[in-house]
Amino acid sequence: MKCPCQSGYSYDNCCQALHLDQVIANSPEQLMRSRYSAYALSLGQYLYNTYHSEKQTGLTVDELEQWARATTWLKLEINQTTESTVTFTATYTEAGQLYQIQEHSRFTQEHGAWRYVDGDILVHQQLPKPKRNEKCPCGSLKKLKQCCGVRSNLL
Ligand SMILES: [Zn+2]
Ligand SMILES: [Zn+2]
Repeated sequence: MKCPCQSGYSYDNCCQALHLDQVIANSPEQLMRSRYSAYALSLGQYLYNTYHSEKQTGLTVDELEQWARATTWLKLEINQTTESTVTFTATYTEAGQLYQIQEHSRFTQEHGAWRYVDGDILVHQQLPKPKRNEKCPCGSLKKLKQCCGVRSNLL
């Protein structure tokens, strides 16, 4: 399957090795992409593990996984990266509604591995739902009904 982070690579050539702890992320962007994929695949443990240890307090693997399961992740765009930050825009659905979130995320290295610290939410808005024959919000250029319509609960 194609990697959910929309890198264009297959999952086993992209985020899977990170999810399986076979390699560590070499940049904040790579960690961020792998966390996005982990949301798409509901990998609560990976999401938990990639938070900075100080931020893990108050989080649980179950809660992270539950929210991931309640959402369907459709699109990721990386807007800007620096040595320790990533600004991205992501599109997802929850309970049949379409949302877009833009976040400026901060990362730091802990024991030699990149970890997510926190982020500022720049935009978080509900988008109008496309109709069956309109373009899918994942960016594929296919019609919604022929693409993510069913799996995202938009139909
Ligand atoms: Zn990936
Ligand atoms: Zn689609």
